Amino acid sequence: MAEINFAVIGNPIEHSMSPEIHEYFASQCNLSNFSYKKILSEEATLKDDISNFFSNGGRGLNITIPFKFSAYSLCNRFDKTAMQCGSTNTLKIYKGEIVGYNTDGLGFIDDLEAKNISFNNSNILVIGAGGSAMSICSSFLNSGQKVKISILNRTRRNADILIDFFNDRKIEIHNHNNNYDLIINTTPISMTREQISLPEDILSNNPICYDLFYSKNKTSFQTWAHSHGVDQCYDGLGMLIHQAKHSFFIWNGLTPETSNLESKLRII
Ligand code: NAP
Repeated sequence: MAEINFAVIGNPIEHSMSPEIHEYFASQCNLSNFSYKKILSEEATLKDDISNFFSNGGRGLNITIPFKFSAYSLCNRFDKTAMQCGSTNTLKIYKGEIVGYNTDGLGFIDDLEAKNISFNNSNILVIGAGGSAMSICSSFLNSGQKVKISILNRTRRNADILIDFFNDRKIEIHNHNNNYDLIINTTPISMTREQISLPEDILSNNPICYDLFYSKNKTSFQTWAHSHGVDQCYDGLGMLIHQAKHSFFIWNGLTPETSNLESKLRII
């Protein structure tokens, strides 16, 4: 029987737990001959790597750091989750064309729900302005809840581009007088092991914090937040599971069961 091929493409890629998650979903749904691998790419070869993957029978591709914008520009068509945020984390082939989706924001909101974190009437700080920040902002704005979103990013111009993208939806640049209820770190600072140099006063309201990066141990953003008095700071493993659930549905038309998976993955 032909292999059903899926993969995640990014740089770096070694840390990704997406293969474990998708293989768990596939076995739960009795999909045999399912394979999900990691592909390391470079900006210069991304287009060829994606096109070779699909021309060799690949069925679906996840896109991770730093290619979510570049992959978007390589798509022939988009569903509304990608169109509403200008970046993509999930590709599939439909009638010979590459269709782009973005399940990051949906997965993030699902994980907040799974953790009983409500965000209606919240003052939210998103740190970062890359592909996942765009998707998370889009999902907040489309959630039907009342939110105020501010952006803090290393490169001001990229924060302005994000704000312009959502032009009529009133996202603002971070102001040090703001008191936040929820802070989401969408940068890879926990991945780089750099010293964290974020302003400490963003934590003055004891906000719930969330780092998109995930690891077996506490991430450096979690450690930084806790050391400055924050009570609750989560890593991104729950989001990874939920965004994968949405990608799996896009590719296979099946919604896998995710309960208890986060605790199982933490002890692998
Ligand atoms: P991206 O599109 O490359 O965006 C990265 C953002 O982080 C940019 O705003 C960039 O700022 C900023 N940044 C990069 N390096 C930085 C540094 N050393 N210090 C401060 N800011 C820095 O990446 P992405 O795809 O959004 O992914 C970002 C992170 O989220 C990665 O760690 C990824 O693994 C994680 N992630 C997790 C999940 C999950 O399911 N848990 C899903 C998606 C992403 P500039 O504008 O200045 O370049």
